[in-house]
Amino acid sequence: MPFDAILGQSKAHTYLKMLARTQQVPGAFLFYGPDGVGKAKTALEFAKALNCQDPLSRQQGDSCGVCASCKAIEQGTHPDVTFADFIYQARLEVKKDFSSKGYQEELEKEIAKQQHINVDTIREITAKSQQKPVGTGWKVLIIDQAQTMQTAAANALLKFIEEPPQKTVWILITNKRTAMLKTILSRCQPLGFAPLQDQQVLQILQQTDTPVEYPDLCARYSGGSVSGALKADQALTLLSAAEFGPNGADAAGPSAVSAGLSRTLVSSRQEAGAILDVLTQALHHAWLNATTDTHKQQYQQTLIRFQNYKRSLTRNVSPALVVETALMSLDGLKVSVF
Ligand SMILES: [Zn+2]
Repeated sequence: MPFDAILGQSKAHTYLKMLARTQQVPGAFLFYGPDGVGKAKTALEFAKALNCQDPLSRQQGDSCGVCASCKAIEQGTHPDVTFADFIYQARLEVKKDFSSKGYQEELEKEIAKQQHINVDTIREITAKSQQKPVGTGWKVLIIDQAQTMQTAAANALLKFIEEPPQKTVWILITNKRTAMLKTILSRCQPLGFAPLQDQQVLQILQQTDTPVEYPDLCARYSGGSVSGALKADQALTLLSAAEFGPNGADAAGPSAVSAGLSRTLVSSRQEAGAILDVLTQALHHAWLNATTDTHKQQYQQTLIRFQNYKRSLTRNVSPALVVETALMSLDGLKVSVF
């Protein structure tokens, strides 16, 4: 069954299946929880369940995954289901025709620039919410990264989520519930998504044939999320390519690691953050297992320093410099990453 194909969120799924079965669906949801735990996938599965053409699946509040409606939702072509994220927004902003030369390049540049779901995008989706549905099922409007909406965008959305037309449901997705405006929060039914277990992350990586170099390790450093696992794998690959040895800092390590970072600021900042996250977890592990007070103290002080390095990445500092300084500050301290 398609809901079951998303691992680790059975509580949310049982609830959504019950709603789809009884067709008692609130006008607006807020799916909240860490990145990479299946919130967006679940929103799309819910859209499938509400629109599935297979009677048996509908009886169970689930979707078949193979009817025309399920397939269209999977491919992003269902006229009554909108999934708005930074890619969707970037597509609206690219002026070129999608079949013209250089479109893909321009789209990628535009995606990298996105920081907020903006008011024009919200207006585009709210207009869709008012149009008559094409099919006989439900209109489903999904907004990912909803916490990035600024006041104008959030205000443009308010009255539409408050009183959506019949058989219309809004799903706002966020990784930071506390960053959402109260006026939005009070109009949405919250549904929480928990971090995954390491074993579930590993299983998802294996099932989806995601090419990762260190599956077990990146599941361990994933923080219970698939996107966390992918970031950890990126960090581990960079650390190992620079021969940042199994026992922490060595002479060539720090500068070689920072030299391996991407050239663009957005990517290198992300990679630097991933490296600091992996090292922080390894330091935390070392701190827990330290046998003497002196060692415990050393690890504790290093952990505090690493918190500051992580924070400095959000400021106007070179990510390569931050990584190099952080690695050098380990200064012979034993940290097992691999
Ligand atoms: Zn179906």
